[in-house]
Formats: sequence, structure tokens, C-alpha cells
Amino acid sequence: MIGNKIRNVGRVAEAALAAPSRLAAGAGLGGSVQVRHVDAGSCNGCEIEIGQAFGPVYDAERYGVRLVASPRHADVLTVTGPVTVNMAGPLRKTYEAMPRPRLVVAVGDCARDCGMFAGGHGVLGPVGDVVPVDVQVPGCPPAPAAIVAALRGVSGR
Ligand code: SF4
Repeated sequence: MIGNKIRNVGRVAEAALAAPSRLAAGAGLGGSVQVRHVDAGSCNGCEIEIGQAFGPVYDAERYGVRLVASPRHADVLTVTGPVTVNMAGPLRKTYEAMPRPRLVVAVGDCARDCGMFAGGHGVLGPVGDVVPVDVQVPGCPPAPAAIVAALRGVSGR
């Protein structure tokens, strides 16, 4: 049972790695990626999994991926949640403050298509309606291994 789960996580990771690796090469991100995160209206479930992705078990920093506090230091923007009306402006400003090349990773079903909050009061739309999205990580919430796989794809390691 546990063996099956590990094999499934491996397949998810491989699938997520395939396309973004080419993206990393095209964007000129040389194996070291600084990530700024924005919660645009999440329930916080995705943040818990992102925390795990950077924790001691999954340890995304092994692959050249680091969280930073300022968009001015960031190559990659991770975004969770459906974008609320109040967060659309801050999300756009964060994206505009990032130097080029810059990539956006939409983490979780809400970021991709509003998920269970579609049509809800105060929801403006998915992340792609506000900033251009380069990589999507499906799931509600996505597993830490899938998040790490997507970030490895953009770091190219
Ligand atoms: S995808 Fe699921 S866990 Fe993530 S913010 Fe939406 S409801 Fe929460």
C-alpha cells in the first residue's frame, strides 16, 4: 500500500517535471530560483503543503529553490487560492515588482480555476485572469511532492 503511494508520487513528480524543465531553460533560470509566495485568497490548505515542501522531509532547497521575502529578489511567483477582489491589486503589484525573466506557478485547484470557491462572493477569478500563469500544480491541496516537482521543473534541477 505504502509502496503504491510512493510509486504514484513518483509518477506525479515525473509528469510535473517534464514541461517546466523546458520552461526553465527558456527563461534562463540557471539552477537557482528565488520564490516569492502570495496567498490571493486561499483557505490556507495549500500553504500548509507548501510549508511541507520546504520542510526537512521534502526540502525543496536541495534543488536550488529558496523562498524570499521580496518580489524584487524573486524569479518565480507562487500563488494560491482563487483571487479575491481585494487581492487582485496586490497580486498584480507583486508581479510587476519582479525582475525579468519571471515565472508564475499557480498552486492548487483554486488558483487554476477557482476550485470550490468558483462563483463565490468576493472572488474575482483564477490567477490566470490577473497575471500570466506558466505552470499549474493541480490538487486540493496538491501533495508536497507535486509542488517540489513543479519547482524543480522551474529551477531545472
Ligand atoms: S485548492 Fe483546496 S487547499 Fe488549496 S486553497 Fe483551494 S480549497 Fe484550499
